[in-house]
Amino acid sequence: MNERIYLDNNATTPLDPRVLEALMPYLTDKFGNAASRSHGFGWEAEEAVKLAREQTAELLGASARDVIFTSGATEGNNIAIKGVAEMYADRGKHVITQPTEHKAVIDPCRYLEQQGFRVTMLGLDKYGRIDPDELRSAITDETILVSIMHGNNEIGTLQPVAEIGQICKDQGVFYHCDACQTFGKIPIDVNAMGVDLLTLSAHKIYGPKGVGAMYVRRKNPRVRPKPLLHGGGHERGMRSGTLNVPGIVGLGAAAELCGQEMNVEFKRLAALRDRLRDGIMSQLDLVHLNGHPTDRTPTNLNLSFQYVEGESLMMGMKNVAVSSGSACTSASLEPSYVLQALGVGDDLAHSSIRFSVGRFNTSEEIDQVVEKVVATVKKLREMSPLYEMAKEGIDPSKVEWAAQ
Ligand SMILES: *Cc1c(COP(=O)(O)O)cnc(C)c1O
Repeated sequence: MNERIYLDNNATTPLDPRVLEALMPYLTDKFGNAASRSHGFGWEAEEAVKLAREQTAELLGASARDVIFTSGATEGNNIAIKGVAEMYADRGKHVITQPTEHKAVIDPCRYLEQQGFRVTMLGLDKYGRIDPDELRSAITDETILVSIMHGNNEIGTLQPVAEIGQICKDQGVFYHCDACQTFGKIPIDVNAMGVDLLTLSAHKIYGPKGVGAMYVRRKNPRVRPKPLLHGGGHERGMRSGTLNVPGIVGLGAAAELCGQEMNVEFKRLAALRDRLRDGIMSQLDLVHLNGHPTDRTPTNLNLSFQYVEGESLMMGMKNVAVSSGSACTSASLEPSYVLQALGVGDDLAHSSIRFSVGRFNTSEEIDQVVEKVVATVKKLREMSPLYEMAKEGIDPSKVEWAAQ
């Protein structure tokens, strides 16, 4: 196997050539500033942004006027969380979230704590789902915002968003949802979900990097996050700065393609993911699935290979691009905080691999990866005394090792 295989589509996706074709003119001839009102260069850029806003809104069940373009979901999450907190601090200083959120949600919440807000981290079941009843009782008169994602980027688990939205609505609290992993992949309807703010990113849906969008509800209730950037008052004043027209055109085109292909593509991706899971799990013992078995995004498969270091497994299959829940993906020695939050032990967290499939993967690639994973895990376990002991029925964790 000499060709590289990309199975890290939850980290980013390749640009679809059709998206490149759509945005290319806006990097070259059609370079106008969408805010230039006095000539055709500006009008043509403005027209293109208008179309992209409609294409994005369409996939959200929203009106184009509710869509704000950003530099990506990190910025969107910051506007949603810090912007709402700052605007509505006089109503209360309490925010609710949960531990497997992306760092772009966790860290703004940590920042708010430093600013005197109280942040509640909800508990999770073993699949990483929050308990709606716990959410309901965590909301107080002080609560202004609940931020809970749709699909998790590491483990794929889907949160009960419609229930969360209903609870927030009943209690008069704003609901923000990070939908990076589900936008364009599974149907989203901001009204059915009851979200007031929702964030998404183009590079997770075969669009360009450095561009994203957010939905900000305009009525019932109206949400007005304070802007992080002050300037020309673009994007209803919520995000000043000259619009990234080629990026926005790319996001719109990418969203449109997702909308056209979603029904078929959802099934194809889920089948690829299941083929990978079944191929691996039918040939190897002591492999554990992380995240929910069925209530998960179609792209994500997260497995722990007991008695195998995730890093060693990745080294053993260099042509396959995946990511691991162990130390080397970050500067620290801590295993994945997402797996830790689920109560997955450090050993299993260190032995986890995230495979994420996407539009350009084929079943031939999946079969090659199955073969490579199975061979590499077998080889690594052959060298593992712990695995040998486990095979003989001894639990290595219960052994009392003699002091040397
Ligand atoms: C990728 C991702 C982000 C960050 O998006 P950027 O556009 O890269 O800033 C945030 N949340 C989730 C769940 C993601 O998957």
